[in-house]
Amino acid sequence: MPIQVLSNDLASRIAAGEVIERPASVVKELVENSLDAGSTRVDVHIVGGGAQSITVVDNGDGIPADELSVAFERFATSKIDESSDLIAIGTLGFRGEALPSISSVARVEAISRHRDSDAGARYLVDFGKTSPVEPAGAPQGTRIEVAGLFKNVPARLKFLGSAGRELSRIQSMLASLALIYPHVAFSLNSDGRERMRTIGSGKLVDAVLGVYGAKVAEQMLEIKLDDSAAFSVDGLVSSPSLNRSNRTYITISVNGRWIRSRRLSYAIEQAYHGFLPERRFPIAVARICTPLDDVDANVHPAKAEVRFLREDLVYSVVQRAVRGILSASAPVHELGAGRASGSAGLLRTPRLANDGSIPRGFGGDISGSSTVNSGFSKWPDPSIIAEQSRLTEEMDGADYGGTSQSNTPKETLPVLRVIGQAHETYILAEGPDGVYLVDQHAAHERVMFERIRHRFDQNSSESQPLLEPVTVDLAPGVMITVQEHLDDLNQVGWGVEEFGMNSLIVRSVPASLATRASGDGAGQVFVRVLDELREGGTGETWRNRMVATIACHSSVRAGQILSMEECKDLIRQLEKTERPNTCPHGRPTIVQLAINDLEREFKRR
Ligand code: ADP
Ligand code: MG
Repeated sequence: MPIQVLSNDLASRIAAGEVIERPASVVKELVENSLDAGSTRVDVHIVGGGAQSITVVDNGDGIPADELSVAFERFATSKIDESSDLIAIGTLGFRGEALPSISSVARVEAISRHRDSDAGARYLVDFGKTSPVEPAGAPQGTRIEVAGLFKNVPARLKFLGSAGRELSRIQSMLASLALIYPHVAFSLNSDGRERMRTIGSGKLVDAVLGVYGAKVAEQMLEIKLDDSAAFSVDGLVSSPSLNRSNRTYITISVNGRWIRSRRLSYAIEQAYHGFLPERRFPIAVARICTPLDDVDANVHPAKAEVRFLREDLVYSVVQRAVRGILSASAPVHELGAGRASGSAGLLRTPRLANDGSIPRGFGGDISGSSTVNSGFSKWPDPSIIAEQSRLTEEMDGADYGGTSQSNTPKETLPVLRVIGQAHETYILAEGPDGVYLVDQHAAHERVMFERIRHRFDQNSSESQPLLEPVTVDLAPGVMITVQEHLDDLNQVGWGVEEFGMNSLIVRSVPASLATRASGDGAGQVFVRVLDELREGGTGETWRNRMVATIACHSSVRAGQILSMEECKDLIRQLEKTERPNTCPHGRPTIVQLAINDLEREFKRR
């Protein structure tokens, strides 16, 4: 075939494929238009998961009758003009692609009345075929109905999910917009049933109530707007007692644009480090404001991602804001707070077993925490604890500045008197308000984590050459991540060298590992570090994970007998940490048997 320019019709159907992937994308484009038009009400009606019809009604500015047909032409927009540099874009739309794209793959009817006009107009585009604009009675605003989506693109139609599945996509998308625009009243109706409604009061907590319900709304903490910096963030985040098993409850916007950003999600998750158990995620709404020319919104076909000029700065502003509110709000991990509120936080007592959860160490599976890893079974020698205690002594009073946790208040342990060791796993101690059990591995992990992190930040990590360097094989693609993070790996003490396409020679290891780890062991830990890296995360997130993995393998394990002195040393070291109540993975290091509960159990009162 000779080269020829495609017809307008075919070209817009191709373009539509980029913008309009499924019913939820239609809803997103239409609702974004409503928001750009300054609407305070947006009502969405869905039939058959959106494949049958989608109707969006708003009370915005409306479209003048003489512009109605132009709105459906490709690259027709009222939001930018030739003078725009495509950098500082303040509206959600700007490409003039949505209406022509949608109307090339569906039957679209638009009825609109502009705010300066007494009469409305109606315009129909039937799978690309236009009819003349005609007068129509209408309230101010715009009503757009999209029917028979993808009927002329069978390939697309085939890839749609069930009506329920598509509806749930629409709902979660609309929920995000409702959370980002609390001053707009949203409603979602599907096949005659109301699915969601927000009142548009302007209060974020009301939007959360409309989207997630009252129970969630009650437990949200407010991120205070800090606009001292060039970037600001406000929003709501869940208190740690409220969490979810996946990260779909994290909503992020930049300058009013809903975006998906793995990195910023991680910034928020990372702020919960130590507050949430592993693999649990917060509910969060974070609205970021940046100078318009600091973001490039024109990098993704569906505008779902943006590019930041100063990404690291945004990342840290978000993380600091979330971390700040969590620390300020008496986290459940703090012993005092947990006790005062009587919450079922990490302070487990036999009484709490009534709710079905068996406190660890009381009839529970005590071997639970001893399955840490393999390859280090004879390690470490208990004497290492005494040695490390001396190190801690030297660092006494050191400020762990520079770590991501430096600006959070220090947690404190109660004064503990060690009684002994139980099940070769728990250190038993007595304190002012009862009896305490400390998980020796978790506690040592915390100590090692902060120490390794501190040294890392001071750039004073010690590296220990291996007597016999080991070769490790990497999964395909992992080499690139090694190269990406080589500086961090070196800084913590790893010395590695490429050896062929997918293998490495490990020549030296972080000193905390070196004393005991055999060559193979060190290689294993290295591979684990890389696995953690592959799970995603960059910068601080990844650094903390790396350090946590090293700490885990540098720590005393469950099942290891400790002398009285070693137990005391470990407790003393734990007392000096910033966050003694949780291990770096967020599991508790200490549980308490409250004296009151003991008295009650023994019927002393
Ligand atoms: P874009 O949003 O990128 O400008 P669209 O194809 O989505 O492109 O819309 C084209 C134009 O139609 C918009 O620029 C706007 O002027 C007008 N328009 C679309 N929807 C609405 C609406 N709900 N209210 C007012 N104007 C609208
Ligand atoms: Mg648009």
